[in-house]
Amino acid sequence: MLNSIKQRLIEQEVLSIELLQKFTEIESFSYDKEGIDRLSAELIQTFSHFPLLVDIFKEETYGNHVRFTWGKGNRQITVLSHLDTVYPRGTLSSMPFKVEGERIFGPGVYDMKFSYVMMYYLFSLLEERGLSEKFRLVWLCTSDEEIGSPTGRHIVMEEAGKSEVVLVLEPSAEGGALKTARKGGGKFCLEVFGCSAHAGINPQDGANAIEELAYQIVQINRWADESLGTTINTGEIKGGTLFNVVPDYAMAEIDVRVLYPSEAKRLEQAFHSLQARNPRTRLKVEGSIYRPPMVRTEQTRKLFDLAQQQASRLGIRLSEVTTGGGSDGNFAAVTGVPVLDGLGVVGGYAHSPKEFLWKDSIPERTALLYGLINSL
Ligand SMILES: [Zn+2]
Repeated sequence: MLNSIKQRLIEQEVLSIELLQKFTEIESFSYDKEGIDRLSAELIQTFSHFPLLVDIFKEETYGNHVRFTWGKGNRQITVLSHLDTVYPRGTLSSMPFKVEGERIFGPGVYDMKFSYVMMYYLFSLLEERGLSEKFRLVWLCTSDEEIGSPTGRHIVMEEAGKSEVVLVLEPSAEGGALKTARKGGGKFCLEVFGCSAHAGINPQDGANAIEELAYQIVQINRWADESLGTTINTGEIKGGTLFNVVPDYAMAEIDVRVLYPSEAKRLEQAFHSLQARNPRTRLKVEGSIYRPPMVRTEQTRKLFDLAQQQASRLGIRLSEVTTGGGSDGNFAAVTGVPVLDGLGVVGGYAHSPKEFLWKDSIPERTALLYGLINSL
């Protein structure tokens, strides 16, 4: 049955490319509210012939979030997409939508405009074959995932809290693998306030902020723990004015990734109890681990097994990975619900000018998604 669904979707390739082009050509950078709202209006319009309940969550600064609901059953299945991309408006002119052989290129095609095409076909299948009356299917499209979901995360958590499973249509990992665990992460900003002085005449009156910062960075790096998947990266530093001035200010921005909530706690505590080595300098620490880790639970394993069974019916050998990157799946997982992420298409180079997806993975992954939902 899944193979015949896939076959039929392959025959509808022209329509799927047309849809993907339409959605891709509405640029929707995370900070471009107007673009994102235009995209969601287009989605609502394109999906208007399906029996969907549409709810718009209005936002002032960022784009609106949109929730589509199919069915009235008590048991909720949530599917997650995001509307935003990492490409500012105008990117299309240097990175146009195009189909070359088996590949499709364009800003956000792979992360994750294809997902709207998958859902279009999924709803077509539900229209034809129905959804069990026990279920309701919620498709949530958030607007600010690429920037850490400052406004979308609460809606994701609320929907996840009502759900039996959460399926995330983020692009797959290498070779189509699903993502069953994701690291959590956060950002810390460490500022050092010292005291400036002339480097030649009275250096003893100064307190060198850069020196203190350098010392602190080396200490902080020691908190990383490879065996537990905890990594730390100081990605940006600033400070000082001129080479012959003792600097009174320096700062660093530090990225942190963790696999376990206990590690998140340990690092947050460590950052917030940093002490200056030079008592004449003062430290200020801000930040947190705002994206909790998505932990692979026993329930996740069962759900993955189910996906694997469906995949084998399509002749696919599905594997799973842990990734250091975050998604809305992290926020969903906090509620304890099993989350399968990376159910989207196969492709590569997300967030870069070479971003692409393999054309034939749209029918394949849509059939897999349908099979999985049907088997719950
Ligand atoms: Zn994404």
